[in-house]
Amino acid sequence: MKTNPTSAISRRHFLASSMIVTAGVCLMPRRLAAAESQVVTIRNAAARAKITVTKLRGNVSMLEGSGGNIAVLTGTDGKLLVDAGIPATRVRITEALAGLSNDPVKHLINTHWHFDHTDGNEWLHSIGAEITAHENTRKHLSKTTRVEDWNFTFPPAPSGALPTKIMTNDETVHLNGTTLALKYYPPAHTDSDISVEFTDTDILHVADTFWNGYYPFIDYSTGGSIDGMIRAAEANVARVSDKTIVIPGHGPVGNKSQLAGFRDMLVTIREKVAALKQQGKSRDEVIADKPTADYDAKWGGFVIDGDLFTKLVYAGV
Ligand SMILES: [Zn+2]
Repeated sequence: MKTNPTSAISRRHFLASSMIVTAGVCLMPRRLAAAESQVVTIRNAAARAKITVTKLRGNVSMLEGSGGNIAVLTGTDGKLLVDAGIPATRVRITEALAGLSNDPVKHLINTHWHFDHTDGNEWLHSIGAEITAHENTRKHLSKTTRVEDWNFTFPPAPSGALPTKIMTNDETVHLNGTTLALKYYPPAHTDSDISVEFTDTDILHVADTFWNGYYPFIDYSTGGSIDGMIRAAEANVARVSDKTIVIPGHGPVGNKSQLAGFRDMLVTIREKVAALKQQGKSRDEVIADKPTADYDAKWGGFVIDGDLFTKLVYAGV
């Protein structure tokens, strides 16, 4: 392939843009990141995001690049999406969906209330999707919600963005010739997390209870905790086989051994941080001790670095 200075520059620009999207704010200088909420950064980055489509098994695919990972089930009952992405990427999501099938989007499931999984709700509802979620997702979207660790206050979502099929217990849905099992997690990443299992194809979308290869965000402002995250990770590991395709909230398509590695990382860092806190150390002293140092190269490459993850763990031990 021939290159010239112009295309090299535009390719570099493209790579830089897509890396910012992929890596969230990690390329931003820390001082800037502190000034701008990650919510704003991620929403803006979505405008430049590339959408990657991965066909998984049967009629299930995954779209990566606009907020949390989106699962898509195609079929004559209409497409079902698990999570809604960010509307700034709407044109490219629309193209990706059209590339999978001609079925209109009729169903949307939110795995939890966070903006990078629900910002697209209003748009998808406007083109015909009925929205299913846990009652706590509707609760948090319905009113002003502050997330302290994002330094961001979300106004109530527009009425078209609110889920109308509300889960309070686990549910089974039959659609497009297959069965979906929706299961609520006791509070973990938030108090609104659900998993979606495509039972016939052995695919499990575990949403933000699993960040494949990255430290997770934990939302203490709406019921999340490190111990809840560990319980959810244990439940996920116990539930899948070596053949199960695991869709994480963020990061590439995963499997059981990656789920187990994530669980082990959570447990180890929790123990380290708890031991330092028990010595009477303040949060800042524990962060300065760098308890995640051995893990940062593997897990710290996305929006949550070792210091922020230490802070999130410290709050819960
Ligand atoms: Zn989340």
